[in-house]
Amino acid sequence: MTYHSLKQLAGQLATGKASSVELCQDYLARIQARNPDLNAFITVDAERTLAEARAADALRAAGNAGPLTGVPIAHKDIFCAEGWLTTCGSKMLYNFVSPYDAHVIEQFKKAGMPTLGKTNMDEFAMGSSNETSYYGPVKNPWDMARVPGGSSGGSAACVAAGLAPAATGTDTGGSIRQPAALCGITGLKPTYGVVSRYGMIAFASSLDQGGPMARSAEDCALLLNVMAGFDGRDSTSLEREQEDYARDLAKPLNGLRIGLPKEFFGEGLTGDTAKAVQEAIAQFKKLGATTVEVSLPNSGLSVAAYYVIAPAEASSNLSRFDGVRYGYRTPDYTDLTDMYEKTRAEGFGSEVKRRILIGTYVLSHGYYDAYYIQAQKLRRLIAQDFAEAYRQCDVILGPTAPTTAFKLGEKADDPVQMYLSDIYTIAVNLAGLPGMSLPCGFDGQGLPIGLQLIGDYFSEARMLNVAHQYQLATDWHQRTPGGF
Ligand code: GLN
Repeated sequence: MTYHSLKQLAGQLATGKASSVELCQDYLARIQARNPDLNAFITVDAERTLAEARAADALRAAGNAGPLTGVPIAHKDIFCAEGWLTTCGSKMLYNFVSPYDAHVIEQFKKAGMPTLGKTNMDEFAMGSSNETSYYGPVKNPWDMARVPGGSSGGSAACVAAGLAPAATGTDTGGSIRQPAALCGITGLKPTYGVVSRYGMIAFASSLDQGGPMARSAEDCALLLNVMAGFDGRDSTSLEREQEDYARDLAKPLNGLRIGLPKEFFGEGLTGDTAKAVQEAIAQFKKLGATTVEVSLPNSGLSVAAYYVIAPAEASSNLSRFDGVRYGYRTPDYTDLTDMYEKTRAEGFGSEVKRRILIGTYVLSHGYYDAYYIQAQKLRRLIAQDFAEAYRQCDVILGPTAPTTAFKLGEKADDPVQMYLSDIYTIAVNLAGLPGMSLPCGFDGQGLPIGLQLIGDYFSEARMLNVAHQYQLATDWHQRTPGGF
């Protein structure tokens, strides 16, 4: 059961081979046994999970089950879930029990999918290694001395280790795709606006997007069917007709035009990662695809633009954590200003403080034009590069991350090195495009390598089709870490 697909689990429920309560008990037992080492979950609440499982079983018994009713899922601790501690990986929210559900959580509840727990993450989703979490780093199940990637590292690690069949993540600059790559699972960041941000604790609102993390593209399609949808409470939620993201999975890839950006295949891409990506390209050709070289001339500036825009938005979004409304408040203070200052000094970790300082700086009078406006102009140029590329191809392919999982502590004191972990993923967020990562091999040390697909706006179904056909022809996504 541990590594079964969502379809297999749903099949067991439909045929009465297992109940949702039994499935949840099995996963909870694995979490209990393995999470103390892995640290993938911040909160587990077996009673609550089993109550939801009983409700799912009742729904099924009454003949009201949907395709995934009773299949459990873990949620990144950035999603507000009623009655659950929701920390966003921060001391600032160490005691915040959400009084309401995020839209994404509501959708999973409507689908009858019990919550297995809340997963660990970089503090306020700022990081690429999970090391900025107040609750300690998550370990990579493929090598417990290494990071799982971030910021959705807890979600990636729990799926890779078989502690949950699927999980939610969020991606502001790569936080679904990069940890999916480092943990050898499949993850999808939808087009901006496809998944509602209501109740998803805001980091950089114009970039944040929730999405599914699972073992396969097919599972991600089923999950996106649950997550996506218009929600009037998020002003950037898109009012579109409901899609079936699994509708094209079976289509052959004959005639598919894959764009290979020359900037992704330069000197930065070396060794086993380069080799695995080339082998994936060869596999796609066998499946009937053709390749064309494209160019994203401004993509080299995406990390620089992102580290102006994302901190600017974060500095504004995080002003709400003031010790008055919710979460942590310093125990000792003399007056209101002193309370604000101490609360924020004690409640936020150093990476979050760094972002707030950068953000307030680039937004301040005199620097706004020099940095913030320039970054916004770059953002437009980056989006135009992609538009130009999609005249020649249907989907763009490249690596997800420049390296496989690095050692815990290796980059923790070097923010710039850490920021470069997202060199291939960030442009996608700046342009608002959909992107996904899927396993495409292993390096010499047995660590998973991720392949990135980038689609045009709203081409999720097509990307999932491309990924699914690749997964029918390969078995990288079925490999599991030894010891789990
Ligand atoms: N690693 C990037 C950052 O630290 C992206 C994080 C994310 O996508 N949430 O900002």
